[in-house]
Amino acid sequence: MQTKNNLMVKVNHPLKNHNTFGLDSTAGGYLRLSSEGQLESLPELIASYDDFLILGGGSNVLLPDFYDGLVVHVDIQRLSHRMSGKDVLVNVGGGVNWHQLVSWAVENGFGGIENLALIPGRSGAAPIQNIGAYGVEFKDVFICLRAFNLETGKFEVYDREECQLAYRDSIFKNELKGKVIITDMWLRLSGRDHQFNLSYGGLKSHLEKKKIGHPEIEDIFQSVIEIRMSKLPDPAELGNAGSFFKNPVLPSRKAEALLNEYPEMPHYVLDDQNIKIPAGWLIEQCGFKGKYSGKVGCYEKQALVLINRGGAGAVDLVTHAGSVQKKVEDKFGILLEPEVNIIHPHLYDQVLKM
Ligand SMILES: Cc1cc2nc3c(=O)[nH]c(=O)nc-3n(C[C@H](O)[C@H](O)[C@H](O)COP(=O)(O)OP(=O)(O)OC[C@H]3O[C@@H](n4cnc5c(N)ncnc54)[C@H](O)[C@@H]3O)c2cc1C
Repeated sequence: MQTKNNLMVKVNHPLKNHNTFGLDSTAGGYLRLSSEGQLESLPELIASYDDFLILGGGSNVLLPDFYDGLVVHVDIQRLSHRMSGKDVLVNVGGGVNWHQLVSWAVENGFGGIENLALIPGRSGAAPIQNIGAYGVEFKDVFICLRAFNLETGKFEVYDREECQLAYRDSIFKNELKGKVIITDMWLRLSGRDHQFNLSYGGLKSHLEKKKIGHPEIEDIFQSVIEIRMSKLPDPAELGNAGSFFKNPVLPSRKAEALLNEYPEMPHYVLDDQNIKIPAGWLIEQCGFKGKYSGKVGCYEKQALVLINRGGAGAVDLVTHAGSVQKKVEDKFGILLEPEVNIIHPHLYDQVLKM
């Protein structure tokens, strides 16, 4: 442990328990950021390292074996709410576990995020890729967030429009990547007259199977958990970071040409110009589903999920992802874009296009 700029930095800190791929990674320097008071000295501390990484729950990152820089682990715990008519305004700290936030909302009868149950990670990372599942996206409940700008050393507030939340995307993956630390945010949930989103066919049929005609918040929450547990691997048992690639959105003309060739291809018409194709289907058609090479492979129930069966290194995973990406591009002419944040991509860009 070293004290630098009044901040306690751990040297050569293991990150195995801080990433859901279970990679045996080590951070040259590690700082647990548990209070806003630490932020003032942070820009100076960061300047003394060649590189730095903001880390939440590590469920959407692929870490190198050794991270030669400072890892800033956001652990700001804060949760409060106030009523505003039939709405509930919730203030949540960046370090609060996302599923615990959802569980708390459900226990209190607050609606809006029950479809987003069991998504791993911390609340501060939810806006980064505008997390989404079962017909609901983070942006549906988001009001604004507060972030500490590491370049100016000041707090800033970003509203919905400024965050540019889109499908697995936001300003924080682009112009503001690595420039701000999201400390807390405000969400608008419903206190009564809830508007449930049952647009996702699988959720609707699951509720029907359970003979629930008029679901309550708790029913949707439980159903989402049951569906997810039946389909997705538990990172505590099989290392993974959820969907490795984004679902590609194709111009309608290109998608229609592919549909002529592959009429069985699942697709979702987004508008009259764009069609989304499930990346998992494309990967499955290339023969990767349930296939492993050594310690890494594609999950048997969902080919989009890359698995570390234990003991794999970052290079093994990136190499496998590169083979998947290449085969899909050769067969369908579609370049799959990684959803997972690959740390130090320049080390890997010869095998994986980004
Ligand atoms: C089994 C499984 C299922 C999943 N299912 C889904 C799903 O259904 N839908 C979905 O959208 N995602 C899903 N994911 C992906 C992942 O859970 C989400 O992206 C989650 O929001 C990542 O949170 P995290 O705290 O782990 O972020 P990390 O992996 O720690 O970080 C992700 C990125 O955000 C940045 N970051 C993190 N915290 C902050 C902060 N406070 N300020 C600024 N930058 C920050 C990091 O630098 C990094 O670039 C799944 C992952 C797993 C393992």
